[in-house]
Amino acid sequence: MEWLLPQRCRCCEAWLPERSRNPHQPKHWLCNACAGELEPLQPPFCPRCAEPLQSHGPSHLPCGNCLASPPAYDFALAGYRASGSWRDLIHQFKYGRQRNLARLLSDGLIRCLEDPRLRALTQDRPCSIVACPLSPIRQWQRGFNQSHELALQLSLRSGLPFLRGALRRRHGLVNQVGLNRQQRKTNLRGKIKCTQRIENKSIILVDDVLTTGATAEACTEALLQAGAQKVVVICAARG
Ligand SMILES: [Zn+2]
Ligand SMILES: [Zn+2]
Repeated sequence: MEWLLPQRCRCCEAWLPERSRNPHQPKHWLCNACAGELEPLQPPFCPRCAEPLQSHGPSHLPCGNCLASPPAYDFALAGYRASGSWRDLIHQFKYGRQRNLARLLSDGLIRCLEDPRLRALTQDRPCSIVACPLSPIRQWQRGFNQSHELALQLSLRSGLPFLRGALRRRHGLVNQVGLNRQQRKTNLRGKIKCTQRIENKSIILVDDVLTTGATAEACTEALLQAGAQKVVVICAARG
């Protein structure tokens, strides 16, 4: 039925006279103008935390933050910059309860799989997908966990196994707004737990947007404690 009805751009509501038949492609959902705003994350960016860098210096050098305090995870990747139409879509997905946007937004994760380091990791040893957890109250408010929806799409599209509910976040709302990475990490200490043993496996940890990375680090620590060999973080967008 979707095919018989005219569709509007999910960002600016312009009519789409023709569109890609593939619902995993941005052009299936966006007009040309909004699709043109997409900014795939391209070098130079920090090889540890994927923070976009200004200079075109040696690309293997981490950013100042990672040099001063290396993250717990091995490295992070993101498909797109959190800007323009991509940021609007993530906003609609999370706060507008547009759960079906997970199919489109998972394109950001699929792009990460093209990274040679991640490709080597998935060939090296068993690799599973885990989603960053939401606190129960936040999940109840939103109706779903956005990272879980994205991880599920990634698993369907890549064939990699998804360890559902591997991480739990304890109840209680922690307001992280306005806090720096160190303060956020302190705030999250002990609040994320792994519910299963993860022996001799690499984990691809999925989140929607990576900003300070404090949540990803708390999740990584819980996964390493549960026996994970390596944790790599991938996100639909880099803030
Ligand atoms: Zn548009
Ligand atoms: Zn960095």
